[in-house]
Amino acid sequence: MSADITQKLYYCSDHVLLEKTETGYSIPPLKSVPDWLNTNQSVYPLGQYQNTAFEVIEVSGPKELPLPYHWVALRLALEAVFPEGFGLLVRAHQVLHWDKNHRYCGHCGTPTQKNTTGFEKQCPSCHLLFYPRISPSIIVLIRKDNEVLLARKADFLPNVYGLIAGFVEVGESLEQTVEREVSEEVGLEVKNIQYFDSQPWPFPDSLMIAFTADYASGEINLRDGELESAGWYRADNLPGLPRSSISISRKLIESFIEKQTD
Ligand SMILES: [Zn+2]
Repeated sequence: MSADITQKLYYCSDHVLLEKTETGYSIPPLKSVPDWLNTNQSVYPLGQYQNTAFEVIEVSGPKELPLPYHWVALRLALEAVFPEGFGLLVRAHQVLHWDKNHRYCGHCGTPTQKNTTGFEKQCPSCHLLFYPRISPSIIVLIRKDNEVLLARKADFLPNVYGLIAGFVEVGESLEQTVEREVSEEVGLEVKNIQYFDSQPWPFPDSLMIAFTADYASGEINLRDGELESAGWYRADNLPGLPRSSISISRKLIESFIEKQTD
């Protein structure tokens, strides 16, 4: 697609307009959607994504769509367009979220203005600049011999277990965050912390940075009360896992299973 055509994405209350096709959902082609979607709505440029210019249009209020279009909840939409459109939908969501939540200058209280270049807002009074917020978080898979540490919070679906994760605190390196979160949540020490992969995650504005690590010392102790239970599991005896196939948590656990069954 030529770079001078701007492709449009439509959002409405954390839902994305997608077209239902024979194989699932996809982002509809330009100009195929009803005209009323383009009138009197808020438009936000998203810049280039994979050599195509995009903008997101925020549609106010729920409106009936003619088939084959549907408003699809963001989490389902992310799965539907994964992997090609994943980063684009995350970007659109986070820019809208940021725009709504940074309407005033944090320094002097003047309403901010959008700059036309990039994702940038500026205070017209004191000229302070604001950018979309990205919150780095770590997630870590901890191995002990042929077992993996899995844990669950009380609000997880029944019998679903995941990995240790948490937000990076001010002044920390990523490795220090891994050590602190593991210590706080399960009372263990880890070694051999290795980078695995990363992924943006728009609930609400995370950048997940994934690691693997080896158990070093300690007994499982749910210190800070954030977890309901935690334990060591072999690849052939796992509890329920995160359902979403697009989460980096799932990818880490699948990588562990593959290595055990090689
Ligand atoms: Zn200001």
